[in-house]
Amino acid sequence: MVARFGADLPVTLNAPVTAIDDTGPSVRIESAAGSISAKAVIVTVSTGVLAAETIRFTPGLPDATLGAIGNMPMGLLAKVPLLFDGYHFGLKSNEWLAYKVPEEMPAQACYFLTWPFNMDLMVGLVGGKFGWELSAAGPDAAVDFALGELRKIFGEKVDQHFIKGDFTNWAYDPLVRGSYASERPGFHGARAAMAEPLDGRVYLAGEALAGKYSVTCGGAYMSGERVAGDVMAALGAG
Ligand SMILES: Cc1cc2nc3c(=O)[nH]c(=O)nc-3n(C[C@H](O)[C@H](O)[C@H](O)COP(=O)(O)OP(=O)(O)OC[C@H]3O[C@@H](n4cnc5c(N)ncnc54)[C@H](O)[C@@H]3O)c2cc1C
Repeated sequence: MVARFGADLPVTLNAPVTAIDDTGPSVRIESAAGSISAKAVIVTVSTGVLAAETIRFTPGLPDATLGAIGNMPMGLLAKVPLLFDGYHFGLKSNEWLAYKVPEEMPAQACYFLTWPFNMDLMVGLVGGKFGWELSAAGPDAAVDFALGELRKIFGEKVDQHFIKGDFTNWAYDPLVRGSYASERPGFHGARAAMAEPLDGRVYLAGEALAGKYSVTCGGAYMSGERVAGDVMAALGAG
């Protein structure tokens, strides 16, 4: 969907940016595919990527922006897709399967989306501290855990009908480093602080800056659109 949505745009994939220099006559962007110059740049990487400092900004980002990024680290919601042989355990398509866990906090639990669009998939979702732990343990551990939870509900039928499973690696993917930006308790102003315009020709946008639509694709899109309008106005191209 994203590829089709941007089909008319000149996009270069597999070109991770390593440096953005705003000190010359134009902004200089260094990437694995070479360097380019631009009148302005909109940076839409996650707060996880910004905090990891894999992109070197010259001059550095202001302290207030860095503080906001630090107070809005990436939260995690990871998915454990499990493929079954067509047996649906009496569960309907596109519903949530949840169950009571002995300890609510910290919970070692997942909930499931059942048979999305009637596919033979049950998708476990794990988040928070336990999600990070399972991500570090790897896909086999995550699939084992999710199957174990289903066994508690459905017994040996789970193994009779299970085919294979997998686990998303958003937690440790260096291009994302989590799922979406989450303000630390007490720092609800972080999104607004990070959205403050920077001096110069570097602009930040994306999900973290999407206000009440943060944490969504639509919010990310609207944030980019709004900032693109700011850039056009600043360049006198609006
Ligand atoms: C489990 C889960 C379920 C979700 N469900 C929904 C849902 O139902 N509906 C919804 O609207 N949203 C959902 N979301 C949220 C949605 O995926 C995000 O809000 C959205 O992807 C954020 O978009 P973004 O463009 O801000 O950031 P990203 O999608 O993170 O895009 C940033 C891009 O920058 C690239 N990048 C990173 N580093 C560099 C670099 N150095 N150089 C160049 N490029 C770089 C990355 O590869 C990436 O493509 C879900 C997220 C998760 C994890």
